[in-house]
Amino acid sequence: MNELETPVLDNHLHLDCEVGRGMDAVDDFARLGGTHLLIVNQPSWKLGVESTDPEDFRPVFETTCEIVDEATDHLSGRAWAILGAHPGLISRLIDDRGCSPAEARDCMQDILDIAAEYVDDGRALGLKSGRPHYEVSDAVWEASNDVMKHAFSLGSKVDCAVQLHTEASEDLTEIAEWAEDRGLAAHRVVKHYAGGRLAGPTPSVMSNKDWIETAAESGEPFLMETDFIDDPDRPGAVLGPKTVPRRVRWLADEGYDEAIARAHIETPKSVYGIDTEATLA
Ligand SMILES: [Zn+2]
Repeated sequence: MNELETPVLDNHLHLDCEVGRGMDAVDDFARLGGTHLLIVNQPSWKLGVESTDPEDFRPVFETTCEIVDEATDHLSGRAWAILGAHPGLISRLIDDRGCSPAEARDCMQDILDIAAEYVDDGRALGLKSGRPHYEVSDAVWEASNDVMKHAFSLGSKVDCAVQLHTEASEDLTEIAEWAEDRGLAAHRVVKHYAGGRLAGPTPSVMSNKDWIETAAESGEPFLMETDFIDDPDRPGAVLGPKTVPRRVRWLADEGYDEAIARAHIETPKSVYGIDTEATLA
């Protein structure tokens, strides 16, 4: 297969070196022409953290940073960590661990404070937050919005982007305004698992052909992702690690060279401040 003459970034995936494919998945990505990865920490419960003490979540971030270092050794570019609390954690804290919505909110905000320390230290690139994509009570919805707003305040304070997991939507301008109100530019809010078009935050588009083509045609900033979860119990639940380089090849064949540069060079630069060209070996 020909070399792709461009950086190729998967903006959101998870790796599990214990039970998943780990570096084999990175090697698959690299072999197809992938160069850079943003690795998001696994949901804490998948690593066996069943606590309500924010400090107990630190090992989840440590594990992710170790995986990022190892992945960087397997890439011609590099990997970076995105750290935070999965929005689904709020239901586990309340339904399984006896927290009130306010206690769950406080716990998740404190976990984000710890994640922001990693960003401040230069060990992580950005934060991850959001709100449940499933039906929840008003109290849980409000608490989740408060967690997300806290993530925006932190992003503003430590000067980093915030990736969001939210309900499916093509208009999240209200959320983007919450970020702007706290000093974080709307374009530095990234909706993970986005379709091809989105008002407000920057879309990180799931790499289905239709959605990628819509984003390419839009002329707007976008990123590409797989949300690979590296979970042997859920094969095929999301896209595989080879998908982004494959889709970039397809975009090149279709003549979308400008969109490739937009998704893999320009948007990563404006959202995260990373230079995917300069970091290519
Ligand atoms: Zn994910």
